Amino acid sequence: SRSKAARECRSKACRLAADNTLPRGESACWGSFAAFAGLVGETKVVELRCLSESTSCKILGKAEFLSPGGCQKDRVARQIIHEAKASGSLSPGGTIVEGTSGSTGISLCLAAASSGYKVHVVMPDDQAEEKAELLRRFGATVQMVRPASISSPEHYVNVARKHAEKLNAESANSAIFANQFENSANFRAHYQTTGPELWSQCFDCTPHKSLDAFVMSAGTGGTLAGVGRFLKEQDSSVKVILADVSGSALYYKVQKGVLYAPEQEERSIRRHRQDTIAEGIGNDRLTANFALGLEEHNGGFQVIDSAVRVSDQEALDMAHHILRHEGLFLGSSAAVNCVAAVKVARMLPKGSTIATILCDSGQRHLTKFYNSAAWTEYGLNPPGQRCSLDLSFV
Ligand code: PMP
Repeated sequence: SRSKAARECRSKACRLAADNTLPRGESACWGSFAAFAGLVGETKVVELRCLSESTSCKILGKAEFLSPGGCQKDRVARQIIHEAKASGSLSPGGTIVEGTSGSTGISLCLAAASSGYKVHVVMPDDQAEEKAELLRRFGATVQMVRPASISSPEHYVNVARKHAEKLNAESANSAIFANQFENSANFRAHYQTTGPELWSQCFDCTPHKSLDAFVMSAGTGGTLAGVGRFLKEQDSSVKVILADVSGSALYYKVQKGVLYAPEQEERSIRRHRQDTIAEGIGNDRLTANFALGLEEHNGGFQVIDSAVRVSDQEALDMAHHILRHEGLFLGSSAAVNCVAAVKVARMLPKGSTIATILCDSGQRHLTKFYNSAAWTEYGLNPPGQRCSLDLSFV
């Protein structure tokens, strides 16, 4: 049954990936989304010189925190709503329901605003408070739940799915479950926009070879798989590397090349799940979007090559290092990505180019990642006091 599950997942993933509903670079499609959609995408790429200098490589960051909703999830929200509208699964005035750690919910609220949709968000209650506050200000109904295992009906994703089903049972097509983890519109948003942008921007930044490695953390896996696939299709020698937080099972899945371990092993992976201070990344299960990065594609390659681990302490030190040296105030996942980019740079020949995503801003993380009480709670040293091993340059 394990191989059957893997086969089903593979064929589902391939089918969904092939279903490209939007031509690449077709900005006119976004007309009905008004100002929000027009500002999503085409984010700048900057060199993080403080990291380049300490690694003798070129480290580039794509500034997704500059997107109007403050995160690369804007692209995903736009795509999910566009596809739901096009397929007729969402009626005018309907409700978009989502289980989210916050960012996707915020992007959905903004993307939905100009089209008159309502948004209902189910969110675990251990995320930074400012995200729930923004969601309320943006008019979403916010339902907080205790963190729970994905196999529990209390898990935020399962609660959201149920709620959408209930609304649809009351009135057909009155709601969609956005389902960012399994809905490959997420993958397509990055395959069709983030990937092509990054590829051409890397070309502009590097005189000889455009890109050696792309490094990205994963929650749903949509960014890693979507961008990674596009880059690999341009140049199959580009390494695509997962940055994974402690306790997440994705590192294990990539390194061992397993989609599904035997149930007992899966249970043991889930038991090792640790709570990390980083938000929106790490996962204890394989989602359809992440699986797209582990499948073999037409060119005979698998998108994700390998994975590196990043600790909370390294991420915290990195965030402060970049703030002090580059004047960029980054969120926790962006900091994780930068640590991983440095680790990858140290494994590659001098002069290599490594790109990553600067997902969101630290302003969304003031009450957790940038809060000294949270550092104590997570057993972390204040940044810069004692340098974590891999960031001796901090
Ligand atoms: N950074 C932030 C701030 C996020 O909210 C998320 C997704 N929840 C990610 C990174 C990970 O992106 P993806 O879901 O595409 O793997």
